[in-house]
Amino acid sequence: MGKSAKKSNTRELVHSPFLTYASMLSLLSLCPPFVILLWYTMTSAHGSILQTFHYLYNNGLHGFINIWPKPTPTAFKLIASFAAFEASLQLLLPASTVYGPISPNGNIPVYKANGVFAYFVTLLTYLSLWWFGIFNPSIVYDHLGEIFSALIFGSLVFCVFLYIKGHVAPSSSDSGSSGNFIIDFYWGMELYPRIGKHFDIKVFTNCRFGMMAWAVLTVTYCIKQYEANGKVSDSMLVNTILTLVYVTKFFWWEAGYWNTMDIAHDRAGFYICWGCLVWVPSVYTSPGMYLVNHPVHLGTQLALSILVAGILCIYINYDCDRQRQEFRRTNGKCTVWGKAPSKIDASYTTTTGETKRSLLLTSGWWGLARHFHYVPEILAAFFWTVPALFNNFFPYFYVIFLTILLFDRAKRDDDRCRSKYGKYWKLYCDKVPYRVIPGIY
Ligand code: NDP
Repeated sequence: MGKSAKKSNTRELVHSPFLTYASMLSLLSLCPPFVILLWYTMTSAHGSILQTFHYLYNNGLHGFINIWPKPTPTAFKLIASFAAFEASLQLLLPASTVYGPISPNGNIPVYKANGVFAYFVTLLTYLSLWWFGIFNPSIVYDHLGEIFSALIFGSLVFCVFLYIKGHVAPSSSDSGSSGNFIIDFYWGMELYPRIGKHFDIKVFTNCRFGMMAWAVLTVTYCIKQYEANGKVSDSMLVNTILTLVYVTKFFWWEAGYWNTMDIAHDRAGFYICWGCLVWVPSVYTSPGMYLVNHPVHLGTQLALSILVAGILCIYINYDCDRQRQEFRRTNGKCTVWGKAPSKIDASYTTTTGETKRSLLLTSGWWGLARHFHYVPEILAAFFWTVPALFNNFFPYFYVIFLTILLFDRAKRDDDRCRSKYGKYWKLYCDKVPYRVIPGIY
């Protein structure tokens, strides 16, 4: 896969201090039932966590087993068709060649960039199947619980496959064991696992399955509401448009995503792969899932205000990522907010002992706070949830989860960069003292 592959088995495992061994085990065991409870609360308990709690309190474990849908053959067929379709698009659609960032072991991953093409082909195919009466997306909503149940178990099996592959047939030297089964399973063994030379597993799980499912399910919820009520509420429209703008932005920038922590630092294990295969399709789509049966009439003025605010946040988030990548791509020879960028010329040592150079941008969005890009990301999620108004708390679960995830991620990334860049990172922190929110944190 890489241009150069040096033999080494060193691990670069960076994770949050509070994600200890015990909390890894808790997450492994709590995430699957949580997905089912979330689906149940959104679709059958009016988004009320209290109603779900009362149900569980009165019916106990038996009641919980009763609401856990069986992973039916229909659910497996739907998932398998979607996965096979996306894998074929990933492999077969025309693509340009893109290189990822140099890995800790000196490999440079090579990718086939055809995400935007795959995204539009997917949505067009899905809408055409519905329009021409070949497949009704409402079926997906009607089997949603079974689909999540099948995804939970299927993805666990897939993570076992990743663990075994990491041990017996790693795709590159960016792989290795910590010597602990739980850590290897949870955090993963391989940084860039592939099937054959061209099928990149993390591109499939994170982008072509997880992010694509987010868009497909968003459209599904909208169609389901239309089929049930004969119209789509303005709240559902705002949620759908903002989510689709966000996912379109993601695929537009997909090659940039291959430079981020998810791909360049997090190994393929339960944390990232199960998360993208199950958590993204279920938790990330939950505000829309709730709106299907709880349409809210916002009125044109409020709907448009939320829409504009949401699009602005998505744009700022995109511009933060673009600014950093443009700055790195041009080796600092670009303009940032109309001026020459201010920067730190940093050096670091790779795990193989080589000294490399890297630039840190200290102006523009990256001069406001070291992870300012998380602010518009969280606000955008708030704006596609707020059409649900404030009748129940649970539709806001994703926003709260994302806030915790990104504040933890900012800390993880700071720790990683501090150990990578040493005194240069300290210089950056002196110049840009706030981690996420300028003037506050
Ligand atoms: P990035 O990987 O894009 O940015 C952090 C990395 O950039 C650092 O590890 C460092 O890498 C480099 N870097 C840090 N500071 C600077 C600087 N001043 N100048 C140049 N390079 C710098 O972050 P994320 O992966 O967290 O985010 C990417 C996007 O994904 C964002 O839009 C984010 O909001 C989104 N996101 C969404 C999530 C969701 O669940 N919805 C979850 C996580 C992210 P290096 O080693 O190369 O120096």
